[in-house]
Amino acid sequence: MTLFLSPPQPHANPSFLLHTHNHNHNHNHLRLKPHATNSPQSQSNGVIVIGAGLAGLAAATHLNSQNIPFLLLEASDAVGGRVRTDILDGFLLDRGFQIFITAYPEAQKLLHYQSLNLHKFYSGALVYYDGQFHTVADPLRHFSDSLASLLNPIGSLLDKLLVASTIIRVLTKSHQDLLTSKELPTIDLLRKIGFSDSIIDSFFRPFFGGIFFDKDLQTTSRLFDFVFNCLALGDNALPANGITAIPQQLAAKLPPGSIWLNSRVVSVESESESESAPSVRLQNGDILRSELGVIVAVEEPEAFKLLPGMTEPAKTKPARTTVCLYFSVDRSQVPVREPVLFLNGSGKGIVNNMFFATNVAPSYGPPDKALVSVSLIGMFEDMSDDDLTAEVVRELSGWFGDPMVRLWRHLRTYRIRYAQPNQCPPTDLMKNPRVGSGVYVCGDHLTSATFDGALISGRRAVEALLRDKAKFYDFS
Ligand SMILES: Cc1cc2nc3c(=O)[nH]c(=O)nc-3n(C[C@H](O)[C@H](O)[C@H](O)COP(=O)(O)OP(=O)(O)OC[C@H]3O[C@@H](n4cnc5c(N)ncnc54)[C@H](O)[C@@H]3O)c2cc1C
Repeated sequence: MTLFLSPPQPHANPSFLLHTHNHNHNHNHLRLKPHATNSPQSQSNGVIVIGAGLAGLAAATHLNSQNIPFLLLEASDAVGGRVRTDILDGFLLDRGFQIFITAYPEAQKLLHYQSLNLHKFYSGALVYYDGQFHTVADPLRHFSDSLASLLNPIGSLLDKLLVASTIIRVLTKSHQDLLTSKELPTIDLLRKIGFSDSIIDSFFRPFFGGIFFDKDLQTTSRLFDFVFNCLALGDNALPANGITAIPQQLAAKLPPGSIWLNSRVVSVESESESESAPSVRLQNGDILRSELGVIVAVEEPEAFKLLPGMTEPAKTKPARTTVCLYFSVDRSQVPVREPVLFLNGSGKGIVNNMFFATNVAPSYGPPDKALVSVSLIGMFEDMSDDDLTAEVVRELSGWFGDPMVRLWRHLRTYRIRYAQPNQCPPTDLMKNPRVGSGVYVCGDHLTSATFDGALISGRRAVEALLRDKAKFYDFS
């Protein structure tokens, strides 16, 4: 059942297995200071982290940096959770359209950007509106393009001034303030600021709707402000080796053998309310005993199954879904060279956004082939993959011309049933990670539904665990 990333090492100590080990409940040998040495005895203590998405990997990274032994259990065959990339015929297919924003504050602390070999998008977009493409450019990075776009039909002159004042507003607040400020649905915020229906429908709806997988823009203004802030400060980018390079970089820094793949947890069990060292039961019946606590880093609906005491996600707030279709075409047949995102600002059709991924990162395809990525919002359950492909090709033939799009070869379609938790108001993006004695939760449902939110939540779960342990032990 368990598949080791590499041969088992002390951190993946089989003594976690309840039926093979007699536990030493004396925790006085625990070391929480950085650079503390691990005595063989202390290696039998540990934290069990469930789920190796970004949140679980961040939690493991923080435990590791404190020399606290841990075991990271992942149900699937690789790390990354929602952030994964498949390789098909030399193409890198991210599991859904994902962008890394370089200004994410927690990511800056945890990731080594240079090794990710990030390739930037153009800071702006080409909006398909009224049968033509119109440039929307970030005035901070592409000043002349933004001047040239002042009079295009994507919003009025006033709208463009309001974009500038919104940038200033979000840049003058801390991330903490943005994520805890008074909230309203994003659409209401945009109207309150005074944006016209024209810019809302042709730009904000496809752009932020694509980020939140929410065309109605009902997602909290807190998330809008946070993402807007990060977009103003950083670049949108893709790692040369696919979005999967982000979790893989975190995993590579963990001790060999500390991650068990194909290890689904079916329950988290405490003998009593006061028990601060719960056990977890794996699908194959094995029981693993933590000695310091359990961190549950799985998607919100899964967390609810593992922890019945947790507040159930509101059924009226359905999770966000998306479909991503990939096509290939000869590089010579790509209509633009720029690494730009195309948005559907027409208000018609099913395509929300698309881009030529190999224009951003040439490594996303074989040398002579381009990778086309098309994103839809929703699941389109009533349409087969073939019908969906035909409809997307028909629609984009209207954008780029039938002779060009007819050459596209469909590669694969991803239907992503759980892309993000629903973050419509009311939200609490600073949820307490402690859900019971010795049990902590992390994941994007505790913070902002972003890469950064997941990373932050992993750190916070470890901090909460350490605070609790510090109450009981003298680490001096
Ligand atoms: C298509 C798509 C596009 C996105 N685009 C962006 C973007 O551009 N920018 C951005 O910032 N964010 C984006 N996001 C959101 C971002 O990917 C998530 O917020 C983040 O990755 C969530 O990480 P997580 O660790 O909380 O959860 P997950 O990644 O879901 O990780 C949970 C892990 O737990 C494992 N697991 C579940 N149950 C069990 C169990 N019982 N036992 C053991 N393991 C279990 C799962 O297999 C998984 O590996 C996107 C998401 C999707 C799906």
